[in-house]
Amino acid sequence: MKNSVSVKMFEEAGKYIPGGVNSPVRAFKSVGLNPVFIKSGQGALIKDVDGNEYIDYVGSWGPLLLGHLHPEVVEAVKECLEVGTSFGAPTERETILAQMIVEAVPSVEMVRLVSSGTEAAMSAARLARAYTGRNKIVKFEGCYHGHADMFLIKAGSGALTHGVPTSPGVPEVTAGNTINAGFNDLAGLERIFSTAGEEIAAVFVEPVPGNMGVVPPKPGFLQGLRELTSRYGSLLIFDEVITGFRLSYGGAQSLFGVRPDLTCMGKIIGGGLPVGAYGGKKEIMSLISPDGPVYQAGTLSGNPLAVSAGIATLKVLGRKDFYVELERKSARLARGLAGAAGEAGREMFFTRVGSMMCGFFTGTEVVDYETACTANTGKYASFFRRMLEQGIYLAPSQFEAAFVAQAHTDEMIDRTVEAAVKSFKALEE
Ligand SMILES: *Cc1c(COP(=O)(O)O)cnc(C)c1O
Repeated sequence: MKNSVSVKMFEEAGKYIPGGVNSPVRAFKSVGLNPVFIKSGQGALIKDVDGNEYIDYVGSWGPLLLGHLHPEVVEAVKECLEVGTSFGAPTERETILAQMIVEAVPSVEMVRLVSSGTEAAMSAARLARAYTGRNKIVKFEGCYHGHADMFLIKAGSGALTHGVPTSPGVPEVTAGNTINAGFNDLAGLERIFSTAGEEIAAVFVEPVPGNMGVVPPKPGFLQGLRELTSRYGSLLIFDEVITGFRLSYGGAQSLFGVRPDLTCMGKIIGGGLPVGAYGGKKEIMSLISPDGPVYQAGTLSGNPLAVSAGIATLKVLGRKDFYVELERKSARLARGLAGAAGEAGREMFFTRVGSMMCGFFTGTEVVDYETACTANTGKYASFFRRMLEQGIYLAPSQFEAAFVAQAHTDEMIDRTVEAAVKSFKALEE
């Protein structure tokens, strides 16, 4: 595979940008390769600067549920470009997007637009703390809620009620207010609540985690979270930055029938431009400035271009049978990949919820972070490299999802499966 231009560009980027990238996973470190620099995208295809073409299963890490340059999204952005890109004053578009979100997502009565998922999650945490008058937050090991200090915390050994920073620069005192729990482990969470329940402002969860690979919630787990948090007067916060508008038009909460108090969104609602949002019950959201005392602001919040792309995207998603067709294609890919692994005699554990899926290189059933970590990342790297060489662009890490987009055709999916058969067979034992 020709990659000399990418190699040169990465070298150059490294002179001016730490690690040559503006978000770490882009550097391909965990698959031991030089990242490919992308030149363009169209539908489900992307081209790199060396002229290679790939079928894209990253989709900008989730936002591009319609694929690249969907004509209606392009049209909406162009129209907006002609009238101005930012005013720092309200525009009607923001209300339209907010209304679409409120009408789609069952638990959301009001919503505040921000510019990233990170911002949505950190703002929701502040709001939850203000509303409950409590300081501690609970998160699950392996779930990602952006890079705010309070989320860069892992479980301390033996410490039930406080964690330790996963990054230098995060103060110990911040770690003291974050508790890590095991995903899918309700009994463990019960123990945490029986010790610290009265201090817990909120439980953050990705209803279907997509940042440790894809790990489906066990039946009753999300309902259990709802019950436990209600019992202790803590807020339940669904981080639907990936799952929102992906798993159904109403997100994971519609699919699983569980209503959180607050919901974080991002990715898809910006249609490929930077947007985030957090929303929930009116009673809680009314605490936000200028209605209430909880401060949160943003110069580019509700940016007209991004909001236009978001509205155009949601319009397409709202059409009849969008999710039926997406499910059909996703099932086709998942079935094909599992078949390919089986044909090659590979021991794998496959997971899928709707259009997000993952193949773990392990024989262990993956139900949480610990079991996800049994995956053989060396084998994944080798698989990834072989797929890339055949024109299939997967996430450059075992612990990410493969995303199916509307733009993937059956023919592309079948080509992906053929490449997977070859790649699985070629893996050294
Ligand atoms: C991507 C992601 C975030 C962070 O969003 P950014 O826009 O990257 O800041 C938060 N939560 C989840 C579940 C995500 O996948």
